[in-house]
Amino acid sequence: MSGEVLLRGVELHPRQGPVDCRIRRGVVAELGRRLRPRSDEFVARCDGGALLPGLADHHIHLAAMAAQRASLDVSALSREALESSIAQAVAGEDGWVRAVGYDDVVHGDLDRTVLDSWNRVLPVRVQHRSGALWLVNSPGLERLGALSAAHDGIERDTAGRPTGRLWRADAWLREVVGGRPPSLRAVGTRLAALGVTHVADATPDGGAAGVVQAAVRRAELPQRVMVMAAGSDPPPHPRLSVGPLKLVVADHALPDVDDLVGRIRRAHADGRPVAVHCVTRTALALTVAALDRAGGLDGDRVEHCAVADRAAADELAARRIRVVTQPTLVALRGDDYWERVDPGDRADLWRYAGLLRAGVRVAASSDAPYGDPDPWACLRAASERLTPSGRVLGADERIPAEVALRGMLSPLDDPGGLARRVAVGRPADLVLLDRPLREALRAPDADHVRATFIEGRIVHGAQYLG
Ligand SMILES: [Zn+2]
Repeated sequence: MSGEVLLRGVELHPRQGPVDCRIRRGVVAELGRRLRPRSDEFVARCDGGALLPGLADHHIHLAAMAAQRASLDVSALSREALESSIAQAVAGEDGWVRAVGYDDVVHGDLDRTVLDSWNRVLPVRVQHRSGALWLVNSPGLERLGALSAAHDGIERDTAGRPTGRLWRADAWLREVVGGRPPSLRAVGTRLAALGVTHVADATPDGGAAGVVQAAVRRAELPQRVMVMAAGSDPPPHPRLSVGPLKLVVADHALPDVDDLVGRIRRAHADGRPVAVHCVTRTALALTVAALDRAGGLDGDRVEHCAVADRAAADELAARRIRVVTQPTLVALRGDDYWERVDPGDRADLWRYAGLLRAGVRVAASSDAPYGDPDPWACLRAASERLTPSGRVLGADERIPAEVALRGMLSPLDDPGGLARRVAVGRPADLVLLDRPLREALRAPDADHVRATFIEGRIVHGAQYLG
């Protein structure tokens, strides 16, 4: 569809009556009452449905989402079912059995020996649900040449033999396993159906970022994408940008603080803020200390910030360090967090309202495929904070859905900053809902998304407009 569209009767502001919106040449060309249709445009009756700027997901892993589609999802399986599915699995195109969603609490500890007892014929790799760890059986380790490989993430026993645990080794795995990168088309289509027009790809490795950039250039992925990997220098493209540099302060092995300071300084010298993965209290303290020594740069941010007490929130606010959080992880795993953390940390888990009260700029995101990519589920999770068992995790941390929505409307390079607006001359990156906003936010649901536009092109809902 050419994208010359007249949307009749949309809600822009709850207190004003419906207006018409003309989309032309990729921008919002006109807003007003009773615009006269032109001969070359589609006219769509919108019946007072809200028209919003397209939603931004401030932390996502696109290539991993695509790879997950070609994997065995074991997250809902019992240990017995996991065992039999690995035993009976067939290899994918690259000769591997690839499984995702392994959970150490549900499935118990896994290593090479356990996996071998299930399947010692095919190379098998199983990803931990956090994305930080892969478990590999002996045929897999052999195929990877893990015995002699130099990668730091290859855990070894005292005799120097790989245990089958590979920590944060995605880039290395991709290189050694090889094969065709998965298509991002289905991922882009799914996000468009959810109303997502902007994404920040938080994958630190340049290989994955390259796959994503190529997909945007080939128009396989319609969204605007900000990449956060090292060495990201995309040739100019209207839908690609380079964001803060993603740094990982891993939970299993804290980095040397001098090393972290050095990496922050180098990023800042290149003009890039940093986005530091921090899950534990210690990781956050280390990151703040390192940022203090390196000196801050506007745009520096902390990813996840899963444990932050009041003092930490004040420190973040004073330094204008933003936080990009993931409310759906509370909805998916809140009970595990509750049980696994030190009881003293429970009040400080996945805070949102408390960070805002302290003056921190916060935006929600999905961390898909490790969290739920649905932003409407994210709005529900942020306002309810219900765990799978129905417990409210941190009642004081709940925020109204419209506040979480504002974070999703903030620009990719300013998460938690001023929301983008629908205004004449602005790019037509838009979501049209089937009802007024207030009604939609009463029970946020992706079903309310009627159409999605990026650069004025309809990327979801053409059947409705046509
Ligand atoms: Zn992530």
